[in-house]
Amino acid sequence: MKHCNIPIFIPELACPHQCVFCDQEKISATFTVPKPNEIIEIIDSYLETIPKNREINIAFFGGSFTGIPRVEMIAYLKEAHKYIESGKVQGIRLSTRPDYISEELLDILVQYGVTAIELGAQSTNDKVLVKSGRGHKFDVIKKAAKLIKERNIELGLQMMLGLPFDTLELSIQTAKDIVNLKADSTRIYPTVVVKGTVLEKMYNNGDYKALSLNDAILWSKEVLKIFNKTSIKVLRVGLHPSEELELGKSLIAGPIHPSFKEMVLSALWNDILFENIEKDGAVTIKVSEKQLNYAIGYKGKNRNDLKIKGFDAKFMADTTLKDFEIDVCYH
Ligand code: SF4
Repeated sequence: MKHCNIPIFIPELACPHQCVFCDQEKISATFTVPKPNEIIEIIDSYLETIPKNREINIAFFGGSFTGIPRVEMIAYLKEAHKYIESGKVQGIRLSTRPDYISEELLDILVQYGVTAIELGAQSTNDKVLVKSGRGHKFDVIKKAAKLIKERNIELGLQMMLGLPFDTLELSIQTAKDIVNLKADSTRIYPTVVVKGTVLEKMYNNGDYKALSLNDAILWSKEVLKIFNKTSIKVLRVGLHPSEELELGKSLIAGPIHPSFKEMVLSALWNDILFENIEKDGAVTIKVSEKQLNYAIGYKGKNRNDLKIKGFDAKFMADTTLKDFEIDVCYH
């Protein structure tokens, strides 16, 4: 059955933390937060447009849902839970910080039908977490992940690449830790420097160097390889440029590209192709239908690279192949 989320954006206003990459003022100034009784209107209007036979979830995202005052959090959950009781919606998803998870909180969340929790882990390296102003260390992520899994709640662990002090090796370790913590899903976000943040000051002082687009593609590719060996769903790779996140506006520096995910998958396929093709000359490469364009490469890059190395490659879709599987026939 296909899934469908009804997104409700609840940014955590007046967050007490100081993540160096976050522009809290902007968050507070830009968004009007719907009141608990106003979310009914949002949910109803989405429900009218969702086709039948979908698994529908109400998704509270945009901040640390469990960090908002308890009475208010329960008021949101109560409204959402009514839709679960009526059978119109199957579950509630939310995003939060690892240090905003406790046994007592999970008791409440389970009571109101929360089925999935996404934690902003960002990194599992203590020095990266400290330098990024996250306000907690890896032990807190581990504890929160364990508590969520013990309740049979779906666990998402989001990671960022290129935070202060981060390296490719540390990002790879973060991906491995996410696997070991038995996450069900992940999101991979390269760090960007946003106007008005502490990171902008660090960048201007020369204390922080943003990842180049090429490095961000390389790092994303390497962590993706780790997740691809597991059943962890990668829900997102990269940030989408928005009107706000444009160079010269809010974006000061950092790897943003409208085709970022495509470029990462193209780079991943470049590695797969050169690992699997041995003889030069005419070759037919079969991959799954979904991966065909990525295998050919962003703007045909992989086909061109093969040509330069003496391979006359023809690409074909094969419905029997799974993602990232390859079948090579020489002529
Ligand atoms: S990113 Fe950090 S500072 Fe920004 S709202 Fe989330 S926890 Fe607070």
